[in-house]
Amino acid sequence: MRILQLKVLYIFLILIFKCGFMKISKNDLIFLPLGGSSEIGMNSNLYHYDDNWIMVDLGISFADESMPGVDILLPDIDFIIEKRDKLKGIFLTHGHEDHMGAVQYIWDKLRAPIYGSSFTISLLKRKLKEVGLLGNVQLHTISENKVINIGPFEIQPVSLTHSIPDPLSFSISTKSGTIFHTGDWKFDNSPKVGSEPNYEMLKEIGKKGVLALVGDSTNAMVEGTTQSETEAFKGLRKTIKNSSGRIFITCFASNVARVKSIIEASLENNKKIFLAGRSLNRAVEAANEVGYPVEGMETSFKNIDKYKHDDVVIIAGGSQGELRSTMTRIAFSQHDRINVKPGDTAIFSSSKIPGNEIAIDKVHTAFLKKGVKVVTDEDELVHVSGHPGKDDIIKLYKLIKPQISIPVHGTPKHLREHANIAKVTGISLSIEPENGSLIKLSGNSPSIINQIQIKSSVPDGSQILKSDSSIFTARRRLLWNGSVSAVIMLDSELEIQLPIKIIQNGITERDDEMEWISEVKSDIEETIYSLNKNELTDDLIVEQKVRSSIRSVTKLLFKIKPLIDVHVLRVL
Ligand SMILES: [Zn+2]
Ligand SMILES: [Zn+2]
Repeated sequence: MRILQLKVLYIFLILIFKCGFMKISKNDLIFLPLGGSSEIGMNSNLYHYDDNWIMVDLGISFADESMPGVDILLPDIDFIIEKRDKLKGIFLTHGHEDHMGAVQYIWDKLRAPIYGSSFTISLLKRKLKEVGLLGNVQLHTISENKVINIGPFEIQPVSLTHSIPDPLSFSISTKSGTIFHTGDWKFDNSPKVGSEPNYEMLKEIGKKGVLALVGDSTNAMVEGTTQSETEAFKGLRKTIKNSSGRIFITCFASNVARVKSIIEASLENNKKIFLAGRSLNRAVEAANEVGYPVEGMETSFKNIDKYKHDDVVIIAGGSQGELRSTMTRIAFSQHDRINVKPGDTAIFSSSKIPGNEIAIDKVHTAFLKKGVKVVTDEDELVHVSGHPGKDDIIKLYKLIKPQISIPVHGTPKHLREHANIAKVTGISLSIEPENGSLIKLSGNSPSIINQIQIKSSVPDGSQILKSDSSIFTARRRLLWNGSVSAVIMLDSELEIQLPIKIIQNGITERDDEMEWISEVKSDIEETIYSLNKNELTDDLIVEQKVRSSIRSVTKLLFKIKPLIDVHVLRVL
């Protein structure tokens, strides 16, 4: 009896947890990260108040080798698709792929208007045009000069600085409190392109009172302050002056300030500059459109042979070792217009995004083998970060003075370090979220009230698949273990008809193949022989038994688990 009572109580508690805690009350102020929390990349966040939602960012991340054939990952937006009539807008902090790269793939499922700074919208317009979506999406250009009122939200954009023009932070106010969402940021008082951080506005927001700061944790483990873009310019000027031969230089495509710095430093050294790469050209076009002119270079190579080899600087896309990028093709002598000679210089004016190290090293090696000197940010000051160091984060907390710190944009280690920094500035409550952590900020005890299951998706040709789809398991098996197809014929007496047909791909070759096939065939024959009449009339059972027979022989001989396909044919 007692056990029964306990069971009933348990089920009751589960129901309360599922229904009660999951339910979001109308006036709950909620923060729900869908991507970018406890991971790097794929940033997407939701805010709820008064039965309305807004989204901040909709980015992608890059898949690793565990997902063959997959390049990018998309955030899980299932939660908000169900409520998309209540999603009032998508606010983009800036134009980096990890913040807006998913718009072209999944905006169609949300169909909410998009808000962003002039450079962000200009860049997005170009990407949407390439995929034929430009006419469909409602785009709004915003700036810190105007507050946006959407439903119960009052959103004040704030200009900070980063490694792309016009990044915005958002001060999101509701009747239950204000949240300051930093986006990616740094304090750069000499950013080369765009305005300086608006310290006055930050101070004002802090004075009015901020409930929570949701902030960038990328460099939370880096001591001190982040250097200005102007320091990178000075370093580049020195490096270009001291470099020999033709100079190939790459940087993040959307870092317009860096492109301008490279051009300026090259012109000072009487170089002729050529710019190559689709993303670079897209960023330069967007910059020109919004009033940050990038001039002094050619964007076609038709005149390159008019100049002496050593007088040329080529700004090329591909700072992360991307296979089809211009920098990679130059390094591997695969570019039809650009040649490399011993004594030339390759400058990587960028950092290595974690996960890309091997690809970048391959490009370095290809250059070195050709006698080209490789210069990276480890050798010279040719790159500065776009994210705040520890002292910058402390300075921001002192200006904003939030009651709660919510570190995002980083792995759990980054978030913990960010929370420690917040503690130093006197903030006693930090909430370190994972993707899917439903955080209630209003009320007496702000905390995570539920954890929603989050599964990222993958654009695969024209379809969008969940990242845990069995399709990827099958592809992994194919890639690493090969495949086997078997055709079994059974006659009306339920006897097996020989020969059994076995086809393999990527498992074995020559003599080993003969041995394996004969082992597999005799094992299948024995398996079929051991089945009773009922089993033999059921295709599914026969398929399953034959599959396990092939699996065990193959595993025994080669220690691999191939993808196995069995067809049962019945000859009547
Ligand atoms: Zn980012
Ligand atoms: Zn960024």
